[in-house]
Amino acid sequence: MSETELRQAIVRQGALLYERRLAHGTAGNLSVRLEDGAILVTPTNSSLGFLEPERISKVSPEGAHIAGDPPSKEAFFHLAVYAARPTARAIVHLHSTHSVAISCLCHADPSNVLPPLTAYHVMKVGRLPLVSYFRPGDRRLAAAVGEAARDHHAMLLANHGPIIAGASLEAAVQIMEELEETAKLFFLIGDRPASPLSCEAVEELAAAFPS
Ligand SMILES: [Zn+2]
Repeated sequence: MSETELRQAIVRQGALLYERRLAHGTAGNLSVRLEDGAILVTPTNSSLGFLEPERISKVSPEGAHIAGDPPSKEAFFHLAVYAARPTARAIVHLHSTHSVAISCLCHADPSNVLPPLTAYHVMKVGRLPLVSYFRPGDRRLAAAVGEAARDHHAMLLANHGPIIAGASLEAAVQIMEELEETAKLFFLIGDRPASPLSCEAVEELAAAFPS
């Protein structure tokens, strides 16, 4: 895809996420990586529902603002994920309600904070580690996110929200939607005795559908 087409794709996917109420206010940001390593990322204080292609920010791999409006203040952790995952071409970060609620719970096992309720969740999202809390803008978050991203394409920032890396923006959005739906299921099931997939079933899926 050309840069122009990628800018249009960001606008389209942002509007879709906003219409589906997965993004509110000016929360959340999207990015794609260009062939030269620079990224297109949604601007600071922009609503995902009302993006304009030519105003989307362009940022160098080192974080320098190249073109468009000033980038999201969270662009630095997008760059950390790209640095850790050479195959990632797009990143979606949202403050979507149910996933954020999961990020605010106490977790006995922070290496995977959602149970394998459905095969689709296991195939799309996989293990979901919780990344420790840092205040907004704290650059230590980049190191923590980069470390989690080495082994995971999906991660959850504590008391904040999910980050998803994908081979395309469409793929990352689909994984994000699956995560949000699983988070909804988790709360819908609540205290009822649940029957998640067995370890054997999860291993069988991993063998049949390697990520
Ligand atoms: Zn955020």
